[in-house]
Amino acid sequence: MEESKKCLESCPPGPSGHAQQTLLIEDESLLKRFSLQQWLEVLRKVTYAIGGVVVFAAFRNSLTWHLEKFWGASGDFWQSQWGKIYTFFGEDDFAVGFYGTAWVSFLSYWFVCLLFLIIDLTGQPAFIFKYKIQDDQNIPVPRGKLLHAIAVVLYNQVVVGGPTLLLLYHLMQWRGCSFGRELPSIYWVMVEAVVFLIFEEIGFYYSHRVFHHPRVYRYIHKIHHEWTAPISVVAIYCHPLEHLFANILPAVIGPVVMGSHVATLMLWIHVAQTSAIISHCGYHLPFLPSPEAHDFHHLKFTNNFGTLGILDRLHGTDSLFRQSRQYQRHVLLLGLTPVKQAFPDDPKEQKCD
Ligand SMILES: [Zn+2]
Ligand SMILES: [Zn+2]
Repeated sequence: MEESKKCLESCPPGPSGHAQQTLLIEDESLLKRFSLQQWLEVLRKVTYAIGGVVVFAAFRNSLTWHLEKFWGASGDFWQSQWGKIYTFFGEDDFAVGFYGTAWVSFLSYWFVCLLFLIIDLTGQPAFIFKYKIQDDQNIPVPRGKLLHAIAVVLYNQVVVGGPTLLLLYHLMQWRGCSFGRELPSIYWVMVEAVVFLIFEEIGFYYSHRVFHHPRVYRYIHKIHHEWTAPISVVAIYCHPLEHLFANILPAVIGPVVMGSHVATLMLWIHVAQTSAIISHCGYHLPFLPSPEAHDFHHLKFTNNFGTLGILDRLHGTDSLFRQSRQYQRHVLLLGLTPVKQAFPDDPKEQKCD
């Protein structure tokens, strides 16, 4: 061995069998040493990798299991509820599509309005008044003005809404919408909701701006703006043409375009109406969408024509609003502290604005 090492150092590598054998021995020894370290390292990495995969797979399986269980149970619940409604309307397309949609629209509107009207009319519960946006307005709500608003709203729902929903039913039949027992998946409903919101924002913003045109305003939209401090029920207190073009059409274009299930339409009508009622309710309540933007529209007339605020930002029709105290307060209230307390009025600052 000693000799071979010597030879390896002194003799240049050549084709001699001795030298080749010596190199082989040295290589094997190197290989063994290298392999041992390398294998330990590889083993360590593989162990980590397998461990990681196992942990990830377990987490993923667990997450998927929980999600499937949640959605499955939720889906079963909604499927079962829809099944009852479907059976109630005799499993008939027209009964579900027209009468069902009309009743959901009507009952949903008045149920939500009633909750706010109880506060407006009774002054109870008193603590809610610290969330009032224009706190010196409509306390108490003038009875005559309120009754007139209710009469106009009922007229719009029956005389304008009724025939429009009938037409919508036939449009949805033509479009091939489903009126059946089986509901679409929750994921598809969420995709559709995004499309509905886009149509609503575009349709409401531009029709609303047309109704604010000086040549049109006094004939149609002025009625809706009689309430500079709005309350819940005036969400659809407006001229019949405005109800048709600004309220109904922007909301129902989405479901027709997407060929939605009638149950999705009902859910969307409920969400859109509730959102409009909250926008007009006059209270900025915790955990509900902020009504500050549309309340500001009723107060100032010249800003905030849309529903999401996207087109107002693009067209610059929120410039006054963005300089206002109401803009600072235009947040989803996640605590019980009223926004007026978090962002109090400051007369000096108001002057600086
Ligand atoms: Zn309004
Ligand atoms: Zn307006």
